[in-house]
Amino acid sequence: ETVNTNKEIASCVKAAVRIRPLSKNEECDLCQTCVDAQCSTNEIILANSTAFTFDHVFLPETTQDDVYRECVYDMIEGCFQGYSASILAYGQTGSGKTFTMGSGVEYNDPAKEGILPRAIMHIFQRCANYEREAESKGIAMPKCVVSCQFIEIYNENIYDLFNKENIDFRSQKNSDKHVVFENSNGEIAVTNITTRFVTTAQETLECLREGALSRTTASTRMNSVSSRSHAIFTVNLQFERVVPSVSTTNPGLREQIRAKIHFVDLAGSESLKRTGATGQRAKEGISINSGLLVLGNVISILGDPLKKAAHVPYRDSKLTRLLQDSLGGNRSVFKEVVFIQERMDRDFSETKSTLNYAQRAR
Ligand code: ADP
Ligand code: MG
Repeated sequence: ETVNTNKEIASCVKAAVRIRPLSKNEECDLCQTCVDAQCSTNEIILANSTAFTFDHVFLPETTQDDVYRECVYDMIEGCFQGYSASILAYGQTGSGKTFTMGSGVEYNDPAKEGILPRAIMHIFQRCANYEREAESKGIAMPKCVVSCQFIEIYNENIYDLFNKENIDFRSQKNSDKHVVFENSNGEIAVTNITTRFVTTAQETLECLREGALSRTTASTRMNSVSSRSHAIFTVNLQFERVVPSVSTTNPGLREQIRAKIHFVDLAGSESLKRTGATGQRAKEGISINSGLLVLGNVISILGDPLKKAAHVPYRDSKLTRLLQDSLGGNRSVFKEVVFIQERMDRDFSETKSTLNYAQRAR
């Protein structure tokens, strides 16, 4: 409930691991899991008996609803107190990042809906409550203003997923069209990015579907771009509220509440160490490498109170620069990051490096 008016930087990074169930094919292959997960202690123990501890460990039988309630619900509630947040999905391709994050595309079964559609419903429910409450108290409050943006970072270039003309990955002509900058309010923004103002959950889900679709259609033009790019769906929230009047001399005082939530479907972690390629592939390998690599460095500094004063290398990649004011920085009064990371059990070394990466968030 307390909004820290001293603008003190309090960063909270949480790491959650979700182990997805084996697919039918994997079961037929008699795939063995190389990990032992302990739900009670939030530990994962690798075959060589290295133990990793996380804030949450989700076993294969975990439902989408469980993940939302345990990791995301409170963050969305916090946004209505003015706290910005980022939710990132990390893991190798096929580990379930998009399934967990939710793309709004393939959901005939509401139980299978991922974080994003649930968060969108949640946000609009809260907005409706806010407006109803203001009305019942007879206070003339402006409505909640909700807007969204959907971008993709590929090869250290930013693409606007709401602008179909700009998603031609073969052409580099738009490469400097979108630049990350800090505006006069100290907020991180991107130039020339489409902002959609949305008034219902349905409308927002349509935007999400549209962007997700143009992401996949663009990918077919160049093989598996989507596994090597970061997709960032951002929801901006703005409304006015009466300042809780415990100590204020001016009881009717109002304040603007603003919050920003980034939902990030990261590039497949296998691209972190793609080497030996030449030409375009090498270039991709190196640049995606830098995004995931810098993110790892940033969250390990943010997650370690002893490193609080250390230089945080946000500017070393487009991804971290863009996430700067919800991961850290000096604007928002509180930031929480749930770092959801999932993996398959097939590849021992890949699993180990993924766990090592996620472990740095603690
Ligand atoms: P990624 O985005 O990491 O490449 P996907 O989200 O596309 O991986 O998941 C790969 C496949 O596994 C998809 O067919 C997806 O539906 C399935 N899957 C992932 N996680 C789960 C889960 N928790 N339960 C059931 N199916 C899952
Ligand atoms: Mg995916």
